[in-house]
Amino acid sequence: MSHTHLEGGAGQVPVTSILGVQVSKLDMRGTVEVLEQAVASGRPHQIITANPIMIMAALESEENMRAMREAELIVPDGAGVVWAAEQLGDPVAERVAGFDLLHELMKRGEQLGWTAYLLGAAEEVVQEAARRLQKQYPKVRIVGVRNGYFGEPENAAVIEAIRQAKPDLLFVARDAKTQEPWIARYKQELGVPVIMGVGGSFDVISGKTKRAPVFMQKMRLEWFYRLASEPSRLPRMMALPRFMRTIKKVKKNHG
Ligand code: UDP
Repeated sequence: MSHTHLEGGAGQVPVTSILGVQVSKLDMRGTVEVLEQAVASGRPHQIITANPIMIMAALESEENMRAMREAELIVPDGAGVVWAAEQLGDPVAERVAGFDLLHELMKRGEQLGWTAYLLGAAEEVVQEAARRLQKQYPKVRIVGVRNGYFGEPENAAVIEAIRQAKPDLLFVARDAKTQEPWIARYKQELGVPVIMGVGGSFDVISGKTKRAPVFMQKMRLEWFYRLASEPSRLPRMMALPRFMRTIKKVKKNHG
């Protein structure tokens, strides 16, 4: 069994390798425990919630692969990742969706008095997401909010604002291509113990978009729901069949 380098009292994390990406085999509960240790350590940790699109992006872009290699924890977000681990004969405990993990961390933060910072999405979306999260988790102080539409020139100011706010949790909601490399590049400077890319989660929390119904999530059809409600996602989603073909090929060669 292989392990990642995530440090902390909870010990090392068992991982399964999917096309060279080391994905955690912990269930949701174990993941939250490990991240509690991460907060206690005070050292920066990047949590990547991996789906097939992100794994394909890593295979195709050196910057994305580097973020994967240097991430302290990669959780199996997509149903496709859970499927791939099964196919390759080293399954994960369960799907750990980024959206659910965000909520579990806020719940734990309620008990431990953590603070959180929201970075990403459109201005009105992130403001509304902050308002709703603050209402749902009143004991987690939201110490900063910033939209995700900024470029290189604003980086320094964005980072400085986060450093000053000193949150325990930093949720970053930007598009999959830039989100992980940005966190990887600046995590040491940011100095936040738990930094997690959450993609479209603020859009869902704010009520702007909806998550797939539970039965579809259970049937591993969340991707289909997203595609049906936002057909412009089709080109991005073509990564999914490519991912499945690649997994089948690896299985055939090694199985
Ligand atoms: N987003 C952002 N800055 C950007 C691009 C996207 O903050 O430069 C936000 C966008 O508003 C949305 C989230 O990132 O809330 C995820 O975007 P999208 O669904 O397009 O990305 P994907 O996860 O599909 O790559």
